[in-house]
Parts: sequence; structure tokens; C-alpha cells
Amino acid sequence: MIEYENLKLLNAPFQSEIDEAIQRVSRSGWYILGKELENFEEEFAAFNGNKYCIGVASGLDALTLSLRNYDFPEGKEVIVPSNTYIATILSILQNGLKPVLVEPEINSYNIDPNKIKEKINQNTCAIMVVHLYGRPCEMDVIVEISKLNNLVLIEDCAQSHGAKFEKRNVGTIGHVNAFSFYPTKNLGAFGDAGAVVTDDPKIAEKIRKLRNYGSSIKYYNEFVGMNSRLDEIQAAVLSVKLKYLSQINSHKKALFEIYDKGLLNHFKKPLPDSESIEQVHHIYPIRHNERDKLKEYLLKNEIKTEIHYPIPPHKQLALAKTLSNDVEFSSGLYPIAEEIHATELSLPISYFHTIADIKRVVDVLNVYQ
Ligand SMILES: *Cc1c(COP(=O)(O)O)cnc(C)c1O
Repeated sequence: MIEYENLKLLNAPFQSEIDEAIQRVSRSGWYILGKELENFEEEFAAFNGNKYCIGVASGLDALTLSLRNYDFPEGKEVIVPSNTYIATILSILQNGLKPVLVEPEINSYNIDPNKIKEKINQNTCAIMVVHLYGRPCEMDVIVEISKLNNLVLIEDCAQSHGAKFEKRNVGTIGHVNAFSFYPTKNLGAFGDAGAVVTDDPKIAEKIRKLRNYGSSIKYYNEFVGMNSRLDEIQAAVLSVKLKYLSQINSHKKALFEIYDKGLLNHFKKPLPDSESIEQVHHIYPIRHNERDKLKEYLLKNEIKTEIHYPIPPHKQLALAKTLSNDVEFSSGLYPIAEEIHATELSLPISYFHTIADIKRVVDVLNVYQ
């Protein structure tokens, strides 16, 4: 069986180093807001090319705090892609703001910059872009739009650690940007974890307080904050994993090349890199009109796959039930998102997969009738 993901195998090459790091924290008697976190924050900021990194409890919290820092008045609008993972949209709702969904380009899976302008009005306060599946958005055009309209720009980099647009790492382009270190992400912890990155010292200082009950001096609370701290054990694990991130990304790139060269063209393959775009292949998405049958066929041939994602945000029951005034729900309003969700299939592309594994997936797919 070729599994889709296996975290034990993925982490096996780093296991003894990680065990040492965990034991170091376990024996230190210091578990929250200590040296391990400070070290990781410095290392990740240096790796990514940011001045500041603030570790938080999850990717969702990193997005929520990025918006919270601005104190936008309730009901203001945030532009967001219609085909993103639900967390991006939840972070907007958690701040009392309105998500305004913009369709993606079908082949890049990323927000269509040409469709952003139509959705901007006096209520718009921010654009939240998502570098989905590890592919950076067209940031030159998007930065231009945000500047022209005086909008805050936030990058959701949860799937794109180390991806580059015009040689700059994602997370260095927007004003304040969010990462997730959920275990399956390209840089994954041994539990929940996330980070906010920015070059603005005022924003960094405020988010540092917001993640810790709105306080920087114990028992003195300046803001209505959250408890969203990245703990010492996760920080220590992430410091080990960060050293191997480039290695993980290049392995995934090598697997991407096997698919790209080998798969027949009737499978709608993801776009390759371009002059300005360097991807990190968080997943390998193809599209196929008989997606469910194809998934079944692969499983019969002992190959596991996933779907990212089966239901688009605007059709999620949770949003329809509680927040129908905040999101436009009708079927057909976002046909591109709906088509992606109906036809997308993610093929194995984890760090533990071998070239031979991927060649086998290609061979099995290419004889599918
Ligand atoms: C994983 C993910 C998140 C949320 O991260 P968590 O750490 O699970 O909270 C947000 N946005 C995108 C695009 C993601 O893939």
C-alpha cells in the first residue's frame, strides 16, 4: 500500500534529534514562553527574511491575531479566496468581520487578482490571500491593488513554508502574515502550533501581547487578549525540523517532477514554477471529471489519496446555519470553487515517499481508462 501520509515515517529521519530536544525541555522545568520559543522565533524570522516572528498556538490563531491587531470596526469586509481551507474564513468571522469571497483562477488554484477589484468598496479593510497547495499568488498585482486602495494585506502561508515570489519568501510581502505548523504541513510540529511574521515593530509588539492575555507584564493587561502561546516543547521540535525544511521541500520538488514528466496530459496537472513563482508542493493536486471513480480505482491498486477539499466554504453547514447574513451561500455563486471541489484529487507527495513510489502511482494512473 502506498499511503497518502504517514507522520511516523515522515519524522523518522529526525526522530533521535527531536527526542533529545523534547527531553531537554522536559527536564528544564520551563514549559511556556521561554528560551526554546525565543530561539525558534529568531530562527524562523531569519530563515524567512522577516524582522519579527511571534509563535502562537495554531495557524488559525495566527490569522485571527493578524486581523485582531488592527481593531477593524465590526462588519468591515475582508477579501478572501472562495476555495480556501475553512480556517482562513473563520479567522475573519472571529473578528466580527465579513468574508467577501473572490473566485480563484482554475489552473493556479489561487485568488484571481483581476476579480479582486470588483469586490472592493468603502467597507473593505483588508485582503487575505492564501498561497494554496504551496503555490504563491500573483503578489505583484495584489500588492498594487492593496496599495491603490489603501488596504491591509495579509498572507495565509499555512501551506507554503519557503515558497518564493520574485525571489522573496512568502510571508515577507503582506503587512502581517500567518503560518501554521500543524503536523502535516511542510514544516510540522508534534502538535498544534503557528506563527505570525511581520517587519513592523508596532504590530509585532501588539501581537506578542495579544497572544498572552493582552499582557507583557504579568497581571497587567493592556488589551483584550487570547491565550495563544506556542509552548516550549513544540518550539524545540520546530527548531529541529526547520533545519531540514529545505531538504523536505527539495524532496517534494523531485517528486513533483516525476509526476509532471510522467503523467499523461488528460489529468489536469498543477502548473509548474515560472520565472516569478517558486512552489513548495505542499500537495500534488490533479483534476479529473470522474474524481470519485479515479480515487476508488487508485485505492483498489493500493494507492491512497485525499481531496482538498470536498466541500467549498460557502456550502459548509456551519456557516450556513449560524452566519447566513455574513456569507453569500447560494449554489452556483462560486462556480470555479465548486468545480475545483468536485474534481480535485491529491496524490501522494510526502517526504517519506520514494521516487519509485511516485513512478508506481504514475504508471497506475496512466493505464486508467
Ligand atoms: C492548515 C491551514 C490553516 C490552519 O492552520 P491550523 O494550524 O490547523 O490552525 C489555515 N489556512 C490554511 C490555508 C491551512 O491549510
